[in-house]
Amino acid sequence: MTRRIEGRVLRRGDRGYEATRRAATWHAGTPDRFPAVIVQASSTDDVVAAVGLAHDEGLKMAVRSGGHSWAGSHLRDATLLLDVSGLREVFIDAEQMSATAQPGLLGSELGEALRQRGLFFPVGHCRTVCIGGYLLQGGFGWRSREFGPSCMSVTAVEVVTAGGELVCADQTHHSDLFWAARGAGPGFFGVVTRFHLRLYPLQRVTLESSYRYPPAVWEEYFRWSRSIEAELPAQVELWNLLYRDETAGTDGPIVSVSATAFTDTEAEAREALAIFETCPVRQKALVAALNEPTTTSELTRVGSLLHYPPAKRFIADNMWTHAGFDELLPGLRAIRQDFPPAPSHLVWMPWTLTPQRPSMAYSVEDELYIALYTAWDHKADDEIYRRFVTERMRAMEYVETGIQLADENLINRPRRFVTDDHLRRLDEIRAIYDPGELFVSWLGRPDLD
Ligand SMILES: Cc1cc2nc3c(=O)[nH]c(=O)nc-3n(C[C@H](O)[C@H](O)[C@H](O)COP(=O)(O)OP(=O)(O)OC[C@H]3O[C@@H](n4cnc5c(N)ncnc54)[C@H](O)[C@@H]3O)c2cc1C
Repeated sequence: MTRRIEGRVLRRGDRGYEATRRAATWHAGTPDRFPAVIVQASSTDDVVAAVGLAHDEGLKMAVRSGGHSWAGSHLRDATLLLDVSGLREVFIDAEQMSATAQPGLLGSELGEALRQRGLFFPVGHCRTVCIGGYLLQGGFGWRSREFGPSCMSVTAVEVVTAGGELVCADQTHHSDLFWAARGAGPGFFGVVTRFHLRLYPLQRVTLESSYRYPPAVWEEYFRWSRSIEAELPAQVELWNLLYRDETAGTDGPIVSVSATAFTDTEAEAREALAIFETCPVRQKALVAALNEPTTTSELTRVGSLLHYPPAKRFIADNMWTHAGFDELLPGLRAIRQDFPPAPSHLVWMPWTLTPQRPSMAYSVEDELYIALYTAWDHKADDEIYRRFVTERMRAMEYVETGIQLADENLINRPRRFVTDDHLRRLDEIRAIYDPGELFVSWLGRPDLD
């Protein structure tokens, strides 16, 4: 018999259902997909009970932690939507340099709790992203150029399976499930109720150098950036953004550069950031602020406010590439044309393929990450922005080596997010743990060869 659910259970048509469905997606563009039942779990027992309820009612299940999937992957028609944002416990063991944390915890909360103890974990760059979806899809976080995608620092996961069993998966127990939980993202077939994490010492120094360049020099800046990225030390994180900044009084998208160094000494940080002063168009910068002390919390706060206001409707898409600047140029020129108003923006983030990756589902990445985000106000304009993002990214497929699930647009552009071998293996592992396909999968997937 199905156990009683302590948390809230809302059925389609119930008072409060629609507000809860809308609130399940972080931005205003909630997709028109309607679960039959929404369960807000208040404990791991509730998760087990929700699995039982889904079986009893013959419903498929979708899971939500922070609802930051741009595409609203957790919202599916006629499913049971299990919301685990209420599972938020965190335990930090400073001596063992480890922590356990539940999926509803915000990355920023985890980061702050660790900072107070002189510890660090590579959490994401937005204040309101929960660790649940973030860690399952890989996670490019602060200092990920140094530590790798954040799922590399997950040492075990506690999972409620489709059979309603709570298991702990790590390198030696249920190792196939552990392998899948590091990279399957919205295609994961179980409910993670707790992550076990490896921690790092907090860096002593965090310095940021930031610049804003006028539209006229965007090509020169990006050409130069591409030419120095391979030499950037792993302790430096570089975010180049293109967006329209009406306050700068310029025509077309400006280039915003944020380079942050995470080091032990100020001298090391200054030395690592010095290269940005050698940019050939440096004297054309509209604004420059050098070697400013900061924290990841502050960088996260400012970035979230500026670029991701939740009152807007959003769509995102992305690609990995190792193309040189000349190859990228035609696609970038097309993206810049008719670029929508802020907060729409393009992100250009150099990546590294060190340290060596363990075997895990996450398997597609490259030297450079490019992502396009558009934001708008009215539902009537959805199609315009969907097409802008999808078609401009499609036009860059000639240099694309894959995509990342963090900013996936699989419903419109199903591209390779893990290697074909890993996709096959994910299918095999799902067949073991979820033979009846209780859990929904990705909104789209590429064909296998
Ligand atoms: C403003 C913004 C900034 C972002 N910044 C970054 C960034 O810096 N780095 C980065 O890597 N990503 C970033 N992302 C992408 C983000 O990490 C992913 O969208 C991630 O899925 C969000 O996690 P969530 O728990 O909030 O999402 P949700 O939408 O709740 O979850 C996404 C999917 O993951 C699965 N899932 C979630 N929780 C569980 C669970 N407990 N058990 C089983 N399956 C689960 C479900 O299939 C769900 O559909 C950002 C997204 C936004 C909107």
